[in-house]
Amino acid sequence: MHPHLEMLMKLQVIDYDLGELERSKDYLPDMMENLRREVVEAETKLADARKQLEEAKVKQKNLELGIKSKEADLQKYQQQMMSIKTNKEYDALVTQIDGIKATISSGETELLETIDLVSKLETDITELAEKEKQVKENNTRQLKILQEKMDSIGTKVSGKQEIRREIVATVPRSTLSTYERVRRGKGGRAVVAVKKRACGACFKSLTPKKIQEIKRADRIRSCDNCGALLYWDGEESN
Ligand SMILES: [Zn+2]
Repeated sequence: MHPHLEMLMKLQVIDYDLGELERSKDYLPDMMENLRREVVEAETKLADARKQLEEAKVKQKNLELGIKSKEADLQKYQQQMMSIKTNKEYDALVTQIDGIKATISSGETELLETIDLVSKLETDITELAEKEKQVKENNTRQLKILQEKMDSIGTKVSGKQEIRREIVATVPRSTLSTYERVRRGKGGRAVVAVKKRACGACFKSLTPKKIQEIKRADRIRSCDNCGALLYWDGEESN
């Protein structure tokens, strides 16, 4: 391979890495934000369920007390039945007793529903607490890794830039500007291998003459179609 092209390949790797590091400055904070939000969501769900459970327990207690007091009333009215004198009194008492029985019955239905709700919430809370614990542990661990990545971006970038300067110093300016131009136009990939006797970037077939020139590597050859800088990686089966 042409020595300058070899340097450009190294440069391409460095430039790709630098691009990735630059992109990570955007996506790492997003990823971290998502991880933090997941923790808050798990905490909120658990806290909401606990609050609902408290409310349901209070409701259960109130319903139980209400039913007990209505049952005492019922007993009182049923005892009054023994000393009824007139039909009118009897009718009035029966109406009252029926009313109380209906209230007790609907109270009991509501109490059963509330007991079911309490039991469901208790199961939910066990699951939510376990989930919250896992999310917290997992996300805290991941956040630590991502924070370390964030913190190391600056050092990594300077390291890569240092190597980049060394490589750039070995390549003629005109070759370098060709590389930069092709790279910009091709989304970062300027130096590509010949694949199946075609350009590895645009897949346009290359003439046997062109392939011979590329193999000879006496100077840098580019694809007539897309401008990619081509090299032969030694595989005839390509
Ligand atoms: Zn091409």
